[in-house]
Amino acid sequence: MKAVAVFPGSREVKVIEQEDPRISQPDQVMLRILDIGICGTDKEICTFEYGTLPPGDDHLVIGHEALAEVVAAGSAVERFRVGDLVVPSVRRPCVHPGCLACRAGHQDYCYTGDFTERGIKEAHGYMAGSAVEQERHLNLVLPDLREIAVLTEPLTIAEKALGQITWMMQQRPPWLDPQTPGEERGRGLSALVLGIGPVGLLGAMVLASAGFTTYVYSRELPPSPRIDLVAAIGATYVSSQAATFTDLAGKIGNIDLVYEAVGHSHFALEALQVLGTNGIFVLTGVPGMQAFIEADPARLMRDMVLKNQVLLGTVNAGADAFASALRNLDAFRRRWPAENQVRRLLRWVAAGDERRHHGRPAGIKTVIAFDAP
Ligand SMILES: [Zn+2]
Ligand SMILES: [Zn+2]
Repeated sequence: MKAVAVFPGSREVKVIEQEDPRISQPDQVMLRILDIGICGTDKEICTFEYGTLPPGDDHLVIGHEALAEVVAAGSAVERFRVGDLVVPSVRRPCVHPGCLACRAGHQDYCYTGDFTERGIKEAHGYMAGSAVEQERHLNLVLPDLREIAVLTEPLTIAEKALGQITWMMQQRPPWLDPQTPGEERGRGLSALVLGIGPVGLLGAMVLASAGFTTYVYSRELPPSPRIDLVAAIGATYVSSQAATFTDLAGKIGNIDLVYEAVGHSHFALEALQVLGTNGIFVLTGVPGMQAFIEADPARLMRDMVLKNQVLLGTVNAGADAFASALRNLDAFRRRWPAENQVRRLLRWVAAGDERRHHGRPAGIKTVIAFDAP
């Protein structure tokens, strides 16, 4: 079968021919890959800035945002049957007996850093004709979500964050009712999303559908399909070329939540200065090397203490976030049915079946669709 791999030694990214994988354990499932999403991590791996080869190999097969179909299952597999659609998680646990996070099946909180990640760190990814995976790392996808389920993995970033935020909001401030249903968690609260890429837009969808009055802030000016999408989900777009953070705080009032999805440290630091009382600031972007700037840490520290603020970093996602991402993709589809706003995020390349993807508006998130065998 063919696969797409990076060779950091010779600084090449190329299509390779390799043997089809085989089921070797009873709990394994054989997958035919249908769609693969591309994100900033892939771009960094393909420019040799990021990623780690599997031990003993000279290359890494990339691809971690996958949608696949089950084509065979080992004798001990219980949850999946041939023909099922599945989305795999990315991170695999470390082997250390003392890592409570990995031993609890929550390798997204791994303490040791010795986890592997398919398509990123010491394990081959899914940008190939087929792949084998253990049952426990797969999530079942409803057939109705065939067109959009490739967004599950990037959506888990926001899902994991929202799970944490909800927990914090239910415990603090103490007057909130912990029994509040999911779609009303953000009622009466404002959320500011930094960045209008796929992670920012999916974050805005999660927050808007949780009832937050949602704003998206980025450099872009209209006209833009991304800005149109912000409006279509009932959020408000503000360009940093038209308004400063101070203007924004004046417009929004108390900023209860900032969801950072840019990975730009200066931008994040500026936003931190307008975070409101009892506010939570979620960082999801991983900045590369950026210029040093002057900052006033005393002011930041004073604000954080005097305003009961929380600064939360989040990476990767566990099975609970995958389950809520799949529930939410279905909810988004129903909530914004006109043209299926979620589908508008997708931009297909190398589409296997031209008819299926023909005539779509230009999307935002690049997806590679594989040919049927
Ligand atoms: Zn990704
Ligand atoms: Zn671990």
